[in-house]
Amino acid sequence: MVSLDDVKKAYREIGDTIQKTPILTSSLLNERCGMQVCLKAEHLQKTGSFKIRGATNAVKQAVAGGARFITAASSGNHGQAVAYIASQLGIPAMIVVPEDANRVKVEAIKAYQAEVEYCGLTSAERIPRAKQLAEDNHGAYIPPYDHPAVIAGQGTIAIEILKQVPDVDVIVVPVGGGGLIGGILCAAKALKPEVRVIGVEPETANDTFLSLQKGEITAISGTTTIADGLRTSQPGDLTFPILREHLDELVLVSEVEIKEAFQFLLERTKQLIEPSGATALAAVMAGKAGMADEKAAVILSGGNVDLYQIPHFLTS
Ligand SMILES: *Cc1c(COP(=O)(O)O)cnc(C)c1O
Repeated sequence: MVSLDDVKKAYREIGDTIQKTPILTSSLLNERCGMQVCLKAEHLQKTGSFKIRGATNAVKQAVAGGARFITAASSGNHGQAVAYIASQLGIPAMIVVPEDANRVKVEAIKAYQAEVEYCGLTSAERIPRAKQLAEDNHGAYIPPYDHPAVIAGQGTIAIEILKQVPDVDVIVVPVGGGGLIGGILCAAKALKPEVRVIGVEPETANDTFLSLQKGEITAISGTTTIADGLRTSQPGDLTFPILREHLDELVLVSEVEIKEAFQFLLERTKQLIEPSGATALAAVMAGKAGMADEKAAVILSGGNVDLYQIPHFLTS
C-alpha cells in the first residue's frame, strides 16, 4: 500500500521537475452545474499531463537504485512523461510503441530525446519487450500505473488540491488503470477523511466499475472510447485494492457526455483538454458527481490532442 508519507516524500522528490498547476474556475460552469467547480489544470503540467508526477518519482527512484537505462511501453502520455524525465536526468530511454502508433505522439516522444521502438499491436506484446530491453541494458521498466512510486507520484495532486481548495467537498477523477485515483485516495483520505472521491469511467471502458461490482479484478475486451487514456482493460493489482477500500463512488459517462465537456471546455473556458482529461468534468456536467452547492475539485488530467482529431470530439 501507499501511505501519506510515501506521497509527501514523492512530492519532495518531484518538486523541482513538475509545475504546481493552477485551479481554474468559470462562473458559467458553476451556474450550469449548480455547484462550485474548481478545475485542477493538469493539462498545463510539464509534458501536458499529470503522468510526469508518477514517472518522475519512479524514474528517480530507479536511477537512485542504479538503473542506467529506462524503458516504458506507451505511445501516450506515460511514454512522453518517461521520455522527458529520463532526458532531464541524462539517462537514455527507449519507449516501445505499437506499430500503428499515432505519428503526432511518436514525434512528441522523440522530441523528448527518447528512442522509439515499434512492437506489435497490443500491450501484451509491448510490455515484455520493454521489460526485456530494460533487463538487457541494466535498466528499469516503468509501468504506467501499477507501481508504488507511480501511485505515490500521482497522489501529489491531492496535496496541492487540499492546499489550493481547503474546503473542497468532493474530488472527481478520471479512471484508467487507477494510478491517478489510487494516489489521490491514499493522500486525500489521510489528510482530510471527510472528503469524498468519485471516479469516472467511460461507459464502454467500464472495467473498474465491473471489478468493483464483482469484488475482483475483471477484464473487458477492446473498447473504442474517444478517451484513449482510459482504454485499459482492467484495474491494476496494486491500484484495485486501494479503490476497493477507499473509493466512495464510481460513475459512468457516455461518449456524448465526454464530447459535451470537451466542447464546453474549449468553447467557453478556452482550454484544450484531451477527451480522457474531460471525462471527470463530463460526470459533473451530467449531474452524476457531486451535490448541489458543494465545492468540487475536478481533475483535467491532460491536454495532448492530435489537432486533426478535434472534429471527432465535438457534439453534432
Ligand atoms: C493516464 C491518464 C488517465 C488515467 O490515469 P490512470 O492512472 O491510468 O487511471 C487519465 N487522463 C489522462 C489524460 C491520462 O493520460
